[in-house]
Amino acid sequence: MTITLKKQATGSAGNPSLSGEDAEVLAVLEEVPRGAAVSKPYRLASREGHPRSTVVNVAGIPVGSALFTVIAGPCCVEGEEEIVETARSVKQSGAHMLRGGAFKPRTSPYSFQGWGNEGLRRLARARESTGLPVVTELLSVGDVESVASCADLIQIGARNAQNTPLLCEVARSGKPVLLKRGMSCTIEEWLMSAEYLLSHGNPNVILCERGIRSFETMTRNTLDLSAVAVAKQETHLPVVVDPSHGTGKRNLVIPMARAAVAAGADGLLIEVHPDPDRALSDGAQSLTFEMFRKLMEEITPIVEAMGRGLTPARLIQCGV
Ligand code: PEP
Ligand code: MN
Repeated sequence: MTITLKKQATGSAGNPSLSGEDAEVLAVLEEVPRGAAVSKPYRLASREGHPRSTVVNVAGIPVGSALFTVIAGPCCVEGEEEIVETARSVKQSGAHMLRGGAFKPRTSPYSFQGWGNEGLRRLARARESTGLPVVTELLSVGDVESVASCADLIQIGARNAQNTPLLCEVARSGKPVLLKRGMSCTIEEWLMSAEYLLSHGNPNVILCERGIRSFETMTRNTLDLSAVAVAKQETHLPVVVDPSHGTGKRNLVIPMARAAVAAGADGLLIEVHPDPDRALSDGAQSLTFEMFRKLMEEITPIVEAMGRGLTPARLIQCGV
């Protein structure tokens, strides 16, 4: 079916029968060029109506451009000293953003759930001391305001990839969003989640492939690099890859990071910890500082072979 989007109304004022939210969605749809033929259910994410790739500006870092982006940090924020030390080390090795969870979605209620707002404060300290923009996960609607007031890029994790009320709220926060693929989402379902963000007024969406559930037990998830190629072809949105959750094993992260760059990803998300064996979450897949340095060294020629360059450190400017 081909749907031709045409200008129909100018918000609720132009169409008094629409509720505020419908009018908001319609207003966004009106931004699709007039007469653009869109045959995909993910109308706004599709390249059909928007052939140029979107570049999402995260505090001065252009994600989805000719410049490759690397996001690194621990699974969860632990002590203030540790997060500041990690931020300094990953920056020194060439990372462009710092990621750490303050609100953690843990499988077991007995596992560490994150420091919450105190974790956000520690992340802000690490940003102040390094200038690295901060990425952190939003778990619930009630925390949108506090997470949005700290984060430069808000992560929606795999478990919430189809939590539609949360997607609507995070879209309204106005902050760029890193949308992970749900662990059992098809590519189309993942793109429809992106569609929720776009249709609720947030054009700054970055997709993140982080592996899907499969029958395989030698890895934590099955990293689906074909999804990167599909998403790049089907949508105009930037795509980053998380080989840490995608494999669950430290010794597989570098090889799959290399492969992700070659598959056409716009960036990587890598878990790094000062002492992974003592990490409060996801230590088995976290790289040491030295391994992360090696990852950066190994991806550099592949980034260049793909006709890109690593984002230069001079673009890192948050708070410094
Ligand atoms: C995380 O990024 O630490 C995380 C919980 O990831 P995911 O949502 O991909 O499982
Ligand atoms: Mn993790």
